[in-house]
Amino acid sequence: MALTIAIIGRPNVGKSTFFNRLVGKRLAIVDDTPGVTRDRREAMGSLGDYKFKIIDTAGLEEGKGKSLSARMWQQTEKAIEEADFSLFMIDARAGITPLDKHFAELLRRGNHPMILVANKAEGRAGEEGLYDAYSLGLGAPVAISAEHGEGLAELIEAFDEMCRELGIDPLSEEEEEVVSFSVAIEGEVSEEEEAESEIDPGLPLQIAIVGRPNVGKSTLVNQILGEERQITGPEAGLTRDTIGVTFDYEGREIRMFDTAGLRRKAKVQEKLEKLSVADTIRALNFAEVVILMVDATMPFERQDLSIASLAVQEGRSVVIALNKYDLIENRQEVLKDIAEKLEHTLPQVKGIPVVPISALTGRGVNKLMPAVFEAYRQWNRRISTSKLNRWLAETTDYHPAPSVSGRRVKMRYITQIKTRPPTFAIFCNRPAAVPDSYQRYLMNELRWDFELPGVPIRLLLRRGD
Ligand code: GDP
Ligand code: GDP
Repeated sequence: MALTIAIIGRPNVGKSTFFNRLVGKRLAIVDDTPGVTRDRREAMGSLGDYKFKIIDTAGLEEGKGKSLSARMWQQTEKAIEEADFSLFMIDARAGITPLDKHFAELLRRGNHPMILVANKAEGRAGEEGLYDAYSLGLGAPVAISAEHGEGLAELIEAFDEMCRELGIDPLSEEEEEVVSFSVAIEGEVSEEEEAESEIDPGLPLQIAIVGRPNVGKSTLVNQILGEERQITGPEAGLTRDTIGVTFDYEGREIRMFDTAGLRRKAKVQEKLEKLSVADTIRALNFAEVVILMVDATMPFERQDLSIASLAVQEGRSVVIALNKYDLIENRQEVLKDIAEKLEHTLPQVKGIPVVPISALTGRGVNKLMPAVFEAYRQWNRRISTSKLNRWLAETTDYHPAPSVSGRRVKMRYITQIKTRPPTFAIFCNRPAAVPDSYQRYLMNELRWDFELPGVPIRLLLRRGD
């Protein structure tokens, strides 16, 4: 008998989306309308080395006088009875709803083995919901993004732990012949203490080029695509669709977001194009790494800085392409000026890489992609809890947090709660009493000691005694 796992939770938390990801085929219908009627589906799925039967309980039978929650529960109960364990999914963006609470209550009573999964945890919008999830009394939530495939390495760890507890040896099961596709996981966890995620060659790396009008975005896109074509010949696989262009760069699939500006440009040569914030945000949402393009002949105007802060706020990794470098004579001065402005305006991301290029002549463009790959690697970094805790002890010993009204603020432990961007939580006795300056100190030390230059790392302070 194969390992059987059920995905349960109220409508619209992303169960079908996750089911699809595990199964690897577009079997399920994903719909934004809560409670769209669907049949319960089962299929073989996989995650890392795990292969299992997965049951999606998304289907809600049309009501026959019973309340929504009663119907949902009926469905769910059937599924969890069949399952070895369940994934109880909540929506980290929406936070905990009364229906989630009601569900959790029933689940606690039933004593079914389960893993609490907080979905839609990509970006920042899910952080509060993630912490709320503790209040369900079902243990620590595993933060994932079903849509973006994030948090899967952590989920595999939770599977390992669950199987150990239940005494299941999941990997010894005979393989079934059913359709199962392996899911590329974010950051394979190595045997070593510190696991660093490698760039997964199976998934395209998503990039967006953003910047003011006329900085040279289209020229750069053409330069990159042209360069690739020169190397790989005119038939090189290059596909354009409404979102962007996908191409191969030295063996790695790249998906580049086509900002609306780029396309509009092709049609009308509009001189006074305004920077569209909406377009920029769309591009940021799409991208894993953002190339912020700046015109070296007029570097770092307000708009450049506001785009940069937007990218950092969104937790994206940023590489700055300092374009039109061919027009610059006082190069050292320009570079120094940029470094200073960055230091002042974006202190939270010290060390953003700045790559001088000429999109027009192609000079320096070959340095840009390696910088993008490196930024992506850093964004996926995972640092082990034991290293972090040693670091915290040393750092707070060296420079303790200031006491407040005679009471000591004690930093107890630290853990990395997610990657993309690296996000750390420090548990301390009085989080509200920690001044911003001390948080900045910790952040800078963290960045310095673990070599995370230019990464928009996040540090959260939580109560923990
Ligand atoms: P179900 O009713 O629980 O099966 O939920 P669905 O899988 O139908 O998803 C409901 C909505 O949430 C859809 O619009 C999905 O695109 C969206 N969704 C699913 N997973 C994610 C995610 O990881 N992040 C975000 N932002 N949206 C997601
Ligand atoms: P976009 O609005 O950001 O897409 O900018 P474009 O790619 O359309 O470029 C705007 C103008 O700058 C065009 O006239 C380009 O030829 C010029 N340009 C772009 N890159 C460079 C460069 O590296 N050096 C020089 N000298 N001109 C450039």
